[in-house]
Amino acid sequence: MHVAQIFKQKKPVVSFEIFPPKRDEALKSIDGTLEVLTELKPDFISVTFGAGGSLTNSKTVEIAGKIKRNYGIEAVAHLTCLNYSKAEIIEMVNNLKANDIENILALRGDHNPNLEPKNDFKHASDLIEFVKQNSDLGISAACYPEGHPESANLSEDVLNLKHKVDVGAEHLVSQLFFDNNIFYRFTELCKVAGINVPIEAGIMPVINKAQIERMVTLCGASLPDNMKRILDKYADNKEALFDAGIAYATSQIIDLLAAGVDGIHIYTMNNPRVAMKICESIKNVISR
Ligand code: FAD
Repeated sequence: MHVAQIFKQKKPVVSFEIFPPKRDEALKSIDGTLEVLTELKPDFISVTFGAGGSLTNSKTVEIAGKIKRNYGIEAVAHLTCLNYSKAEIIEMVNNLKANDIENILALRGDHNPNLEPKNDFKHASDLIEFVKQNSDLGISAACYPEGHPESANLSEDVLNLKHKVDVGAEHLVSQLFFDNNIFYRFTELCKVAGINVPIEAGIMPVINKAQIERMVTLCGASLPDNMKRILDKYADNKEALFDAGIAYATSQIIDLLAAGVDGIHIYTMNNPRVAMKICESIKNVISR
């Protein structure tokens, strides 16, 4: 089923994101994670694509295929395009189809200084248009409540986002953010721009100070003062930071649900304990 169809049937949608383990021999370790995550019955699970140099999307496809076939949960395979030719993308799309995967999250990917980009795709919108013309896959895309770091401003980014929707993106997943007002302002801007597809709020539970600082530097998300205080106070106490990070993410999610968002996409970081704790804390809120 296309992810967009799930949104037609239910609201709010709750989904998880996982990434393939870096080393091939660790690929088996994802099985334990999947056992727990699928038990929580998310509406779909998306699997990232490490791009940067890999010639195929085989690890992403293997895991997404397992989610779909072994657990009966809809899977979304991330797919980047900057470093691939049209022929390579066709091959990867065929690989997805052969593994019963019906949805992609179509991305440009980041520039890799060690790799010469191929010139077939410049933006995610080029990939979206190409996949739309050449397959019947459901297509999701990324959006940025604080604007993509390469954009001159948020309005310009939202115009480019509108183009992604116009050429075929049926659903959007947001970059992480820690201040819900930023997300609300962004969805208002999207509405004004005529973007009418479901927008899922991307929530990253913070359980590791170094990891989150690296991430916000890369993606340009801001850290509000209350999050900075938590990081400063509990950085050296793993369990305390875990509790505080889960509580912060849970309270963000409850506020988003109360405001009537289309869906919540939880960046699980392959940590089933994170997903379990959050799902346990919101189970009655979700069903209302
Ligand atoms: P685009 O939509 O192409 O946007 C990139 C920049 O170009 C923006 O500034 C945009 O405003 C501008 N732009 C877009 N279209 C046009 C246009 N037609 N003309 C002019 N300017 C334009 N990376 C991975 O490598 N693997 C993953 O699995 C992965 N998963 C992600 C999941 C989510 C939910 C998010 C939010 C990001 C993910 N990323 C992933 C990171 C992503 O690849 C980077 O953020 C990348 O820099 C931009 O990708 P994009 O698809 O948003 O690009």
